[in-house]
Amino acid sequence: MTDLSALYQEVILDHNRRPRNFGEMAGADWRQEGRNPLCGDQLTVWLRMEEDTIADVSFVGTGCAISKASASMMTAAVKGKTREEAERLFTRFHDLVTGKLDAAAGHESLGRLAAFAGVSRFPARVKCASLSWHTMHAALHQSSAPVSTE
Ligand code: ZN
Repeated sequence: MTDLSALYQEVILDHNRRPRNFGEMAGADWRQEGRNPLCGDQLTVWLRMEEDTIADVSFVGTGCAISKASASMMTAAVKGKTREEAERLFTRFHDLVTGKLDAAAGHESLGRLAAFAGVSRFPARVKCASLSWHTMHAALHQSSAPVSTE
């Protein structure tokens, strides 16, 4: 068994234990479902926009620690950001977990989200880490189709 312990850094554990922005949102502009059949992660993301800014974002989900911690950190990262800033974060985060951006560069542009850098060594976990981001991205584009990583 590969040593997964490097993945479970304190920040990830903390967000898994106490997910931020967890819960359904009343008065949301958009609700988006996402799932990762490979691992069994399922989540719903709610967005409330004020013009071009993400005024509020929340999620509810079940799944592995990586998917839940990532969803929690995604909501904390994009809340208060413009659509464009959120999309840019999504691109950087995706580059980080797929190994195109190293941890040091990731830390500079992503802050605590760089905790997921270790995921790039575990291809199956990349989908767990990026599910919430893909779902948020689809919500920003008001996609009617549920997001699936498969
Ligand atoms: Zn997972």
